[in-house]
Amino acid sequence: MREIDGSRGEGGGQVLRTSLTLSLLSGEPLKIVNIRAGRQRPGLLRQHLCAVKLAAEVGNAELEGAEAGSRELTFKPRALNAGDYQCSVGTAGSATLVLQTVLPALLLAKGRSTLTLEGGTHNPLAPPFDFLARAFLPLLDRMGVRIEATLERHGFYPAGGGRMRVVIEPGPLQPLMLRERGAIVSCSATALLAALPASIAHRELSELKQRLGWPMEQLKLLEVDRAFGPGNVLFAAVESEHVTEVFTAFGEKSVRAEQVAASVAGKVQQYLAAGVPVGQQLADQLLLPMALAKGGAFRTLPLTEHARTQLELLRELYGASFAVREESGVVDISLV
Ligand code: AMP
Repeated sequence: MREIDGSRGEGGGQVLRTSLTLSLLSGEPLKIVNIRAGRQRPGLLRQHLCAVKLAAEVGNAELEGAEAGSRELTFKPRALNAGDYQCSVGTAGSATLVLQTVLPALLLAKGRSTLTLEGGTHNPLAPPFDFLARAFLPLLDRMGVRIEATLERHGFYPAGGGRMRVVIEPGPLQPLMLRERGAIVSCSATALLAALPASIAHRELSELKQRLGWPMEQLKLLEVDRAFGPGNVLFAAVESEHVTEVFTAFGEKSVRAEQVAASVAGKVQQYLAAGVPVGQQLADQLLLPMALAKGGAFRTLPLTEHARTQLELLRELYGASFAVREESGVVDISLV
């Protein structure tokens, strides 16, 4: 059985998630050791356990070591099944990362699937729901699969309790060519707020306006009243002819609203200055669908450790090789 060292590369949850996804797709059993050895609290946390168990359901897999804190896991998939799945992380752990684990497999399953996922929907260090809905899923749509994602309740750290539903209509994936961004169509920002003073959002938006010079009509405050606990997230969306990118920063107790806005503005400026269509997070997330489509190319910012780890795993576990060329801070990636 193939053994994966979970401490390699980026050393976090991504090695685990991508290995599970590729095992579901190839049908090849896996043993993963040193799970999340690079993290402060290594081993399987609730969010990872939820992803492992859901992947096992989707792949009708035999599991060993699927316990909280476990650093070793054996995963033997038997058959890929479309269906109706539900999974509750039980903490504020990211439900969108649970989705990231099983989505590619369900894209190739025979038939429609529905997922109801509960947990965090807006977590630092994970794709926020709005990024999925506006940036990532529309690109999969362009590749030929229909995915409808509905946010039923926002879930923020630490209260969690968010819920989303995702309906997946599989189909053959077409290669995505995304080397050009095209003209910018609109730039907008939203300050999301739950159970916190509106002044926080106003400060974020006015700082963002100062730094980016976007018109006030494009800057919105969105108050959420059904969340289980407080939360504050600032998003900026850059919609261009060929792609929409979403940049995010999270409000935290010790971080001033102006700093949150400065962080988002910095990401937007870096993206706009590079003239590329794909930002750093979108880049690591597009690699797997590209491998499934057996073709495609995009231009992006310098690769993160996440993207490099993803490239390595795709080569080793799925036989997908990418050509990566970097020139003047712009990276061109294509499947070979
Ligand atoms: P890991 O750190 O291994 O759990 O992986 C985190 C995943 O979340 C990667 O696929 C990142 O691209 C993604 N991610 C983290 N932050 C963001 C963000 N602000 N927007 C979109 N995706 C994100």
